Amino acid sequence: MSAPSLYDNHGRKINYLRLAVTDRCNLRCFYCMPENICYSAKENLLTFSEMYRIVRVMSEMGIEKLRITGGEPFLRKGIMEFMHRVNALEGIRQIHITTNGTLISDKIPKLVKLGIQSVNFSLDSLDRERFFEITKRDEFEKVKDALYQFIESDITTKVNMVVMSGRNEQDIIPMALLTKDRPISVRYIEEMPFNGEGNRYMKTDYFNFEKIIETLKTAFPDLRKIPDPPASTSLNYAIPGHAGTVGVIPAFSRTFCGTCNRIRVTAEGTLKTCLYDNGVLNIRDALRNNISDNELKNSFLTTFNQRAKDGFEAEQQREGLPVTESMSTIGG
Ligand code: SAM
Ligand code: SF4
Repeated sequence: MSAPSLYDNHGRKINYLRLAVTDRCNLRCFYCMPENICYSAKENLLTFSEMYRIVRVMSEMGIEKLRITGGEPFLRKGIMEFMHRVNALEGIRQIHITTNGTLISDKIPKLVKLGIQSVNFSLDSLDRERFFEITKRDEFEKVKDALYQFIESDITTKVNMVVMSGRNEQDIIPMALLTKDRPISVRYIEEMPFNGEGNRYMKTDYFNFEKIIETLKTAFPDLRKIPDPPASTSLNYAIPGHAGTVGVIPAFSRTFCGTCNRIRVTAEGTLKTCLYDNGVLNIRDALRNNISDNELKNSFLTTFNQRAKDGFEAEQQREGLPVTESMSTIGG
């Protein structure tokens, strides 16, 4: 039996869950988490059986697409078994992963076998030293090898690069050149204020959508807008003669909210119906207080019916609380 369709109070279909399976990470991308980040106590993180129940219940309500993210999802022991379990759920039609690529090369054949739909591979520089300056760890060679393995596999590969003024704008063009002979998509992401330290590092000269396109046009003047898939967060472009495409994710400008089909569950089990909200439901505590499936569904429906219309409204509704969380707890 197919699941019903799920809509929010603005008529937007919700069918996509991004699940952060851990807040831990082996890199320290400065825009995401400080070196001395204080991780959640283990008992505050969702267990795999709690995550499974959330995915099962949501899949019965209309969630069809699942993204496994983190922290670094492949740091969590048992992740492959968990992915097998959720893959067997009737309503889950697609599983996608987001990874920093450090721990994954030996798992790629298994991920292919599992039928993983796509990987969002985070890589902010093609230069070993700049990679180190951004991530604070010397893992570039390993990550590069994993990326090439993915490109050669049957898994659709998207490379995500956060663009930061004064840090890696010189990588914009080399990254686009990756698409020359490879059918991959390179997406440039605007930096957002989720670095675990509030807005401390947010600059006024941040590298926005327009600047990214301007930079691309210096090398590819014939850059051509192409249609975006439904509910896409990226604005996509073709470079004549290239096998792949490039895109920009205006995550800070927030121009994609009108078609947003996604919800998030953080590693601690907080439901977010917008990236910029402060969390709308503590699912973990509800589960630990023995909520029934029906009650859980009703709680979810209530939150979906009170969804902010866009990221600006969600931010206003934080009641003066600034964004202070790290993206590693939210999952991007
Ligand atoms: N560790 C995995 C990885 O890096 O792909 C998964 C989690 S990471 C939080 C998910 C995505 O969020 C990555 O593509 C990362 O670049 C992005 N991200 C993290 N902090 C960000 C920020 N402050 N602004 C924009 N994107 C950010
Ligand atoms: Fe880790 Fe991903 Fe955050 Fe980088 S962006 S610190 S790899 S969770």
